[in-house]
Amino acid sequence: MAQYAADSILVLLQVSPGGGLAKSAAGLLGAAAGVGTPVALIVTEAAELAHDAAELGAAVVLVADPGEGLTVPFVDALVAASDLVKPDAILVSNSVDGRDVAGRFAARTGAPLAVDAVGVSRDEQGVLAHHSVYGGAYNVDSAATFGPLVVVVRQGAVDARGEAQPLVTETLTVPVSGKPAAAVESFEAAVVASSRPELRGAAKVVSGGRGLGSSEKFALVEKFADVLGAAVGASRAAVDAGYVPQSYQVGQTGVSVSPQLYVALGISGAIQHRAGMQTAKTIVAVNKDPDAPIFDIADFGVVGDLFVVVPQLIETLKSREQ
Ligand code: FAD
Repeated sequence: MAQYAADSILVLLQVSPGGGLAKSAAGLLGAAAGVGTPVALIVTEAAELAHDAAELGAAVVLVADPGEGLTVPFVDALVAASDLVKPDAILVSNSVDGRDVAGRFAARTGAPLAVDAVGVSRDEQGVLAHHSVYGGAYNVDSAATFGPLVVVVRQGAVDARGEAQPLVTETLTVPVSGKPAAAVESFEAAVVASSRPELRGAAKVVSGGRGLGSSEKFALVEKFADVLGAAVGASRAAVDAGYVPQSYQVGQTGVSVSPQLYVALGISGAIQHRAGMQTAKTIVAVNKDPDAPIFDIADFGVVGDLFVVVPQLIETLKSREQ
């Protein structure tokens, strides 16, 4: 049986629909490596994914059988892993499934939960979670007086990466809780209509707002995103006007993103929009109103008509590719 360091950080890694580790794995293990010894948990039949986890910095990889049902087998596995490892903290991705597992784990075990963290650190008393709140207006640290602190980490927020480790795996025996779990009875595979990256966790995002004016004109946002290899997002005003589906919405009541590059086109920068994108590493805004609040947080701003500026940006980027 593997030995677990006193400063172990348990990291729940998710498996993508394509069968590999989810993109969030690198950031989670990088965050864990910064505050302790990362121990990965993968709930999968594909035990070979343990190699990928070790490459990303996991000192030990626990592999658990996925079992039957949605979410509950992951919570069961996380409970068993936590009992075994006795970690200082547990890191989980801020994905739909990750949030579900983290919340249920905390409710079942009474563990403290810190949601939507953009980073973690350690002081003499333990692990702290960092949050960007109220539209990024405040940075808040949360810590627990008892542990382990369960931290749900925003995707893309952590740049740090762990160092590759020699592969040490352990098959985790999971006592089945028998808690009621939803089951998938049938499903229809959705046809992937575009090769664009998924908004949540994308390294680059181009978003459009009400300034686009119509769904037809919103195509310019998509064209620019494709040239950059970026995901497409939108403000709520653009969603409410029917330019794009709600799944594109970035902000307080939409998706939170932390990409390397966020481009806001025809978006004023309301606090509810900023809440979902202010932690982007570089923010570029194009807006014809020089007083638009988005310029307060932009690293680069262009005051101008986006229908003039963006086609020029597209042409320039395309000419550089040749
Ligand atoms: P506007 O504020 O109308 O801004 C449009 C901008 O486009 C303007 O700045 C204008 O100068 C510019 N523009 C117009 N034409 C051009 C052009 N040709 N070239 C360049 N610039 C141009 N909003 C979100 O985005 N996400 C959320 O999750 C969200 N949640 C909310 C939750 C609550 C409870 C509430 C009350 C509101 C929420 N909102 C959210 C709405 C938010 O308050 C704003 O109304 C919304 O973000 C505005 O979207 P916008 O910037 O696209 O539109």
